[in-house]
Amino acid sequence: MTLHLYDTYTRSLREFKPLEGKKVGMYACGPTVYDYAHIGNLRTYIFEDILRRVLELNDYTVRHIVNITDVGHLVSDADTGEDKMETGSRRTGKSAWEIAEFYTNAFQQDMHRLNISEPTIWCRATDHIPEQIEFIRCIEAKGYTYQTSDGIYFDTTRLPDYGYMARLDADNLQAGARIDMGEKRSPTDFALWKFSPKDQKRQMEWESPWGTGFPGWHIECSAMSARYLGHYFDIHCGGEDHINVHHTNEIAQTEACYGTRLANFWMHGYFLQLDEAKMAKSGGSFIRLENLIEKGYDPLAYRFFCLSAIYRTKLSFTWDSLDGAAKSLDRLRATCFEWGQPGEPDPGFVEKFLTFINDDLNMPRALALAWDLVKSSLPAGEKKGTLLFFDRVFGLNLGDWVPLKEETPAAIQELLEKRQLARQEKRWADADALRGEISARGYEVEDTAQGPKVKAKRGQ
Ligand code: AMP
Ligand code: ZN
Repeated sequence: MTLHLYDTYTRSLREFKPLEGKKVGMYACGPTVYDYAHIGNLRTYIFEDILRRVLELNDYTVRHIVNITDVGHLVSDADTGEDKMETGSRRTGKSAWEIAEFYTNAFQQDMHRLNISEPTIWCRATDHIPEQIEFIRCIEAKGYTYQTSDGIYFDTTRLPDYGYMARLDADNLQAGARIDMGEKRSPTDFALWKFSPKDQKRQMEWESPWGTGFPGWHIECSAMSARYLGHYFDIHCGGEDHINVHHTNEIAQTEACYGTRLANFWMHGYFLQLDEAKMAKSGGSFIRLENLIEKGYDPLAYRFFCLSAIYRTKLSFTWDSLDGAAKSLDRLRATCFEWGQPGEPDPGFVEKFLTFINDDLNMPRALALAWDLVKSSLPAGEKKGTLLFFDRVFGLNLGDWVPLKEETPAAIQELLEKRQLARQEKRWADADALRGEISARGYEVEDTAQGPKVKAKRGQ
């Protein structure tokens, strides 16, 4: 069975084949750790996790690298404004190093709660300053840089196909440039190294051949992907916002230095929106995974919600749709539990499943197939074996779920026994009063063939 993935670089669905044997090198741009991740960011990491699981189900061994941007990502993509880490530091009153550590941990905890597989390597930008300096030296040696009073810049006009992936039209950009370019020669030029402001000591700064300062945002990904995957590897991914600037600039850097387009496949997850607007960290109001948990949602209900849409479409978040996802997940878990011991997966269903997931990760169709499986007439064990096979990609931990055992509190049990006695002694008024007391404490009595039972009332 062949795997087809959509490649933004060629704007086409292409058959995926690893560059080397059964091994796949995959680099995913990681979070900028100046604040918590919002559920929009997490949608992108869920998409990348599904991609990795699909590759693994196709018997590939994936070397998955995720970076942590803890320096150099400026407030504006036009290389102006402050470093986001420094603003985060002012907002929280902690040092830039402390917040990097804090929000990295918070992000990794979210990944864990969403059952996102641990990357093979996490790499921090600040741990790879020498590699970034080396990379800039290589670009400089090839003649693609110039210096201004605030840094070393990449001269995008020197690269004939600059912006090809984003289909940027350099002439139009030039003509329509309204942004303040400072000393930049062209609007698409970008910083490789920024000098520390003369009048101010930055918390994060390093010596370099050009002067004390810090790396631009894009260079970390070219340098760290080269270190861990080489300068041409299988798949590079990120969110759709990376197409125009960040990934375009990563490609420019690597092309300048090594002459490759950096990755064979470029894949992008589309945005989660809230009320038709994109959810953004800088937007002020954003929803975190923690907010869902506080409202009583299982984090995996959010994962299920993300699976309901194709990664290449925008997805609108509403509490109602999350609610629907939570209920469907509950139903799937309970059904899976009731099926008992798993048997062998059904080859027919498995084949269909592989067709859907290998068609550019079509998770909505894969989920619909799971419901077809539920409704099918297969024996329970085979159904369970098949669903657990699907769950290697869904990642919903369907096999681990067991119903919550509700313990009846001793006081309620005592009231129940008193009511039993009253009924045996035909003291009907007392029995009714005891039922009333049990009810007032949030439990209801059900008289079954095996005797009376109590259960907690829902929706109190
Ligand atoms: P950041 O921490 O801002 O560098 O972003 C981390 C990842 O989240 C990147 O891959 C972004 O492209 C992605 N991202 C940012 N906003 C959204 C959103 N609203 N929906 C989906 N992905 C997003
Ligand atoms: Zn990146």
